[in-house]
Amino acid sequence: MSISRRTFLGGLAGGAGMSLVGTLATPEASAGRSLEAATASPRAGFDPWIEVDAEALRHNVRVVSTLSGGRPILGVVKNNAYGLGLTVAAPVLEAMDEVVGLAVVKVDAALALRNAGLTKPVLLMALFDTDAGAELIARDVDLALTSDDAPERLSEAEDRAGRRARVHAYLDTGMSRMGMPYHRAPAWYARLAEAGVRIRSSFMGFTEEPDFDREQLRRFVDVARRVRDAGGDPGLLHAASSNAVFHLPEAHLDQVRPGIALFGAYPTDWPAEVSIAKDRAAELRPAVRLRARVVRVERLRAGDTVSYGRNYRAERPVWVATIPAGHTDGVVRESVRGARVLIGERTYPVIGAVSASHHIVEVGDEPTVRVGDVATVLGPDHPDVHPNRIAEVTGRSVYDILMHLHAGLPRVLA
Ligand SMILES: *Cc1c(COP(=O)(O)O)cnc(C)c1O
Repeated sequence: MSISRRTFLGGLAGGAGMSLVGTLATPEASAGRSLEAATASPRAGFDPWIEVDAEALRHNVRVVSTLSGGRPILGVVKNNAYGLGLTVAAPVLEAMDEVVGLAVVKVDAALALRNAGLTKPVLLMALFDTDAGAELIARDVDLALTSDDAPERLSEAEDRAGRRARVHAYLDTGMSRMGMPYHRAPAWYARLAEAGVRIRSSFMGFTEEPDFDREQLRRFVDVARRVRDAGGDPGLLHAASSNAVFHLPEAHLDQVRPGIALFGAYPTDWPAEVSIAKDRAAELRPAVRLRARVVRVERLRAGDTVSYGRNYRAERPVWVATIPAGHTDGVVRESVRGARVLIGERTYPVIGAVSASHHIVEVGDEPTVRVGDVATVLGPDHPDVHPNRIAEVTGRSVYDILMHLHAGLPRVLA
């Protein structure tokens, strides 16, 4: 990919196939367009922005579908769709036939999906109180049952809403975070059945510790068998997040429930996952870019230092460039440990310190970048800026790399 001066100027005139969507974008404004890959940017000005690549999202849905043997996908779009922007990314995912519904962890996110006009099932994977429960039921959001008081909690919300909810049983098979402990679950299902509650699906989350994942799966399937043996119905079974999509095919069950893979990052074991993906001709493509334009290019003298703490000292005269995106925007502070930024066709190392709104790269002996050039901090365009590479060199989780992209930055859907 090359971003020339010409595409910069062309971009200023308004690039083809790009749309600027804010957090209040309607799905009509953002979904279903057939747009080119974002190889140029329409953004003028020096504020950073985030590009969401709809075709990459669609590609990743197809990849996950392939890897999970065509199972229906319940797409997890929590935490602002992993940083991409909930109302930007979710409509693109929802429009895919492979995606049967979406799942979130916060009430506001569930309501935001309905406010954005999405119509497929939305599951709130969290405890609800009566007020929120009633509103969610009224807005046709599916609820998770997680606790001993689920029958009473549900009936209060249903009474308040004046209608029945669609509900799903959340089981704890060893995560010890949310859900009904598996060893008490059979009796709990019996009480729910007595209360006339129909369970649409039962689900659990893995610890992602390989041997224990298998034990968790055994516990889960065993509960479902015992419920059925007792004449009950646990509904569909789902357990696989992205990690199990790659590493635990026996956990694909009735549907899969991935998040991060849909957005184009490998979940936990990057080199292994890339080789699994290559084997199946199913490589993920990062669907997000963090970009900004270079605001300053200067030549340091030998001995000059860079940024807070003076962690970088020029040994000899050297050119440096400032990029106006910092840790509040989602550039992790640990980028100084070896992350690189793509400008034009080359990548340059982050030096000194990442401050709130800026970071600085070493350009070298020649001023090969210019003020106004587009810098790609994160994206699919070069291996050095792939989210998994950034996670690797910074020692941060790839989940942090995506989810810490600032929700307030403008989103451009390409
Ligand atoms: C976050 C989450 C997922 C998706 O996890 P990924 O690792 O992003 O695929 C699935 N299920 C639950 C309960 C979650 O909290």
